[in-house]
Amino acid sequence: MTAAATSGQISIKLDTGRCLAYGTCVSIHPEVFALPKGARVAVVQRDVADASELEDLEEAVRSCPARAISIGTVD
Ligand code: SF4
Repeated sequence: MTAAATSGQISIKLDTGRCLAYGTCVSIHPEVFALPKGARVAVVQRDVADASELEDLEEAVRSCPARAISIGTVD
């Protein structure tokens, strides 16, 4: 079990300086990531997620071509 899963809360950060609006994260987890029409970068709709979302978030981190997403634990 990871530290994030133990604490029950995961923090989500999106580096808007790196995001190139590929939209991969949005298709993986649309409840967290969004790409508003015409936007040049994705947005995080909430910066904290539940441990049950860890798998999707890890996939989003791995799949982002710009390496713009990072996740961590909430203290
Ligand atoms: S997958 Fe990465 S580059 Fe693409 S929209 Fe999401 S954060 Fe931006």
